[in-house]
Amino acid sequence: MKIIDENIIQLTLPTPFAVGDVHVYLMKGDTLTLIDAGAKTIQAKDSFVHQLKKIGYGLMDIEQIVLTHHHPDHTGLIEEFPRLKHIMAHQEVDLWLTMNSPFLRNNEKFFEGFFILNGVPEKFHPAINEMTDDFEYGGRGSLSGMLKENDTIPAHPDWRVIETKGHAQTHLSFVRDSDGLIIGGDHLIKHISPNPMIEAPIIEGEERQRPMLDYRDSLKKCSNLELTSVLPGHGEIFSGINELISKRLVSQEKRAEKVYRLIKSNSLTPYEICTQLFPKYYEKQINLTMSETIGQLDYLLDEKLIDYSIEDGILIYYAK
Ligand SMILES: [Zn+2]
Repeated sequence: MKIIDENIIQLTLPTPFAVGDVHVYLMKGDTLTLIDAGAKTIQAKDSFVHQLKKIGYGLMDIEQIVLTHHHPDHTGLIEEFPRLKHIMAHQEVDLWLTMNSPFLRNNEKFFEGFFILNGVPEKFHPAINEMTDDFEYGGRGSLSGMLKENDTIPAHPDWRVIETKGHAQTHLSFVRDSDGLIIGGDHLIKHISPNPMIEAPIIEGEERQRPMLDYRDSLKKCSNLELTSVLPGHGEIFSGINELISKRLVSQEKRAEKVYRLIKSNSLTPYEICTQLFPKYYEKQINLTMSETIGQLDYLLDEKLIDYSIEDGILIYYAK
């Protein structure tokens, strides 16, 4: 637990995920608001109750929850607050809290087609379900209201919403313009470069988003905000944000260059690129490594350095 200032307290909770602990933030004001809600485990709940008690609060005192994005290590405990009046987030977070069967089917169907189109062998297809399996650690419920660009957090008018799509299509960050403090969720983390995850389009049959391009745009947007300090979802609180943003942009461009060189010597399917880019990881982490590979291809396409054709239903990328 860390007291940031008279209005903000950082609490740190365990998660069952490889990323480790997650931070949530208690925001004081006319309403006691919780930003993000950890993972749904007994350990996270116990730890949360224990830390709340130390600062004189209980689960009864929290009246509003605001979520940075829909991932399960950020939504898990939303069902635990008996006097909760509001859950606010990006409007599409609602689908992930409800998890109804048409939504899940749409998701599964999209990824089945996506794996085939990108040349991923059938032995990996069971990994599609692993993506939604993680959501057993996410909270169930529904939003009471939605937040969008330039809204302020209800009852906390000094905190402004900025959309920071990329790592998740639902990602929001919260900025206090008076001093440049930002609650950055998983968009801005010092020790990890967030993976821009491929997501199924919300409306079946629509084209998928290009999260790597969104992520880059969101980084550039943040570099224009005169931010001073980041309260992240994971890892240490940090400043020097514009340096970190430049570093993230450059390292992505370097990885894209590597992909470009691979394609230049040989036309390849996205899966083939993935195995060459992540020889040690693709077997165990096909979802993450394919998301990252597709991100680099989206970037190179956008830069007009490469193009693709479809042969026997599978994408083949080549250098221009
Ligand atoms: Zn996340």
